[in-house]
Amino acid sequence: TGPELFALERVNARGFDLTHSQTLEALFDARDAFAKHQWQATPLLSASTAADDAPRAVITNPADPSDRVGAVVWATPGDVENAFSNATPWAAPDTERCRILLHAADLLEADYAQLFTLLTREAGKSLPDCVAELREAVDFLRYYANRATDTPPAGIFTCISPWNFPLAIFLGQISAALAAGNAVLAKPAQQTPLIAHRAISLMYEAGVPRGAVQLLPGAGDIGALVTCDARVGGVAFTGSTATALRIRSAMAENCRPGTPLIAETGGLNAMIVDSTALPEQAVQAIVESAFQSAGQRCSALRCLYVQEDIAPEFTKMLVGAMQCLSVADPWHLSTDVGPVIDQAARDGIAQHIAQARAEGRVIAETTAPTTGTFIAPTLISVPGIAALEREIFGPVLHLATFKAHQLDAVIDDINATGYGLTFGLHTRIDDRVQHVCERIAAGNVYINRNQIGAIVGSQPFGGEGLSGTGPKAGGPHYMTRFSQPDRQQVTA
Ligand code: GLU
Repeated sequence: TGPELFALERVNARGFDLTHSQTLEALFDARDAFAKHQWQATPLLSASTAADDAPRAVITNPADPSDRVGAVVWATPGDVENAFSNATPWAAPDTERCRILLHAADLLEADYAQLFTLLTREAGKSLPDCVAELREAVDFLRYYANRATDTPPAGIFTCISPWNFPLAIFLGQISAALAAGNAVLAKPAQQTPLIAHRAISLMYEAGVPRGAVQLLPGAGDIGALVTCDARVGGVAFTGSTATALRIRSAMAENCRPGTPLIAETGGLNAMIVDSTALPEQAVQAIVESAFQSAGQRCSALRCLYVQEDIAPEFTKMLVGAMQCLSVADPWHLSTDVGPVIDQAARDGIAQHIAQARAEGRVIAETTAPTTGTFIAPTLISVPGIAALEREIFGPVLHLATFKAHQLDAVIDDINATGYGLTFGLHTRIDDRVQHVCERIAAGNVYINRNQIGAIVGSQPFGGEGLSGTGPKAGGPHYMTRFSQPDRQQVTA
C-alpha cells in the first residue's frame, strides 16, 4: 500500500450547492413534483407480482403518518428460490461492467427529484442529508466501477443493507459485488423497500442484466434464507452487531467453509474535548456528530468526554446550541433534526431517555413535534462510556467529564467497550493528537472536526472489533473480498 493507492482519480460527485437560492428553489420544485406520488416495491421487480392480489404493506412517512408513500409486496420463500435459480454471475468483461455501472451513476444523479422525495418521505431525510446520500451513492458506484476486476467472482453475493443509508449503503454493497462480476441478491431494510426498488430499476435501465441483481424486500426471515444457503458465495451486511453475529453463526453452519462475510455494524463512538480545544469549533462538531441525521448514523457521537476544568462553561454552550436546533418535518429547509425511522425506534429511544430522567441524569432536553416519530435532542450525564449498555440509535448524547491525568484511563474505557468505529478529538496540543491516535482503537479517527460523513475514496469507512470485519467501504481493499478467496488481489 504505497502512496499510489490514493493517487488515482478522486473526483467525487458534484452534489448541489444549498447556499445558492436558485439551486434551492429548483430542488424544492423538483421534490414538490413527487410530494403526492405513491411508489410500489415488488420482489424481483416483477410486474406479475405487482399485478396479482399479493398482500401489500403500506409504507408511511415517519414525519407524518397520514402521508402514504407507497406499498410493498414482501418476497416469499418462493421468490427467494426463483432468485437463486435465476442468479447469473455477470460475465461481461470488466470494461463493460465498468461502463454500465458508470452509466447507472449518471442515471442516479439525473433522477435526483424522485430520489430526494423518496429519501425524505420514506426515510425521513432532510434535504442536506438527501444531497449527501445521493452523492455518496454515486461516488460508490463510480469508485467500484473504476475498479471492476476480471478475477473470478465469488458467485452469488447476498447484500443486506440498513434503512439509515437506504440508497448509499444499499448501492455501495451491490456495486462492489457487481464490479467484481457476481450475481447479487439484494435484501434492503424492511423500512425502505421503495427507495431500493427505484434504485434497482435504474440499474436495469443502465444495462445491468436482470439475473445479475435481484431485489428481495423482506424482514429477517428473508434475510435468513439468502444467507444460510450453500449456494451463497459471500455476504455483505450492514446493520446491528447482534444481527451480524447471528449471520456469522448461521453461515458457519450452512455455507461452504471460508464463505466471506463483510459486516459493518454498530459503534459506541466517543469524542474527547480537552481544555485547550476551541469551544465554538468543538460545539459545532458535537452538534453535527450527535444530531445530524437525527443521530441515526453508525458513525454518530454517543459519548462525549469534556475535561473537567472547562465542563461547566462548555456544557452551557453545548446546551445553548442544542436549543437552537429545529426539530421538524424534514421537508422544510430550516429543519435540523428530522424524525427517527419508525415507532419502534422511537419507543426504544424514549424508554432510554425516560430511564435517565427517572435517575435524574438528563442535563438538557429540547422540544419536538408530537405527531410523527420525533425525538427531541437530549443530553444525558453518565459517569463514563461503560455506563452505556447499548448503542442508542437516535439524537441522544451522553456526557462525561475527566481530569487531565485521566486521559489514558478514558481511552482505556473507550477501547474496553469492544467497539471501534469512529472517534473524535478536539485539542490544540499536537503531541496529544499523536498520543491519542496511537492508543485509540477505532476505524475512523477525526481531529478537530465532526466525526461523521466519511468521503468515498479519500476517507475509507469501517471499524474494528464489534464494529465490523473490514475491509473499509470506499477504500482500495473493499473489492478484494468479492472475488474468489484464492484469486483476491488489491486493485488500488
Ligand atoms: N459512512 C457514514 C458516515 O461516515 C456512516 C454509515 C452508517 O451509518 O452506516 O457517517
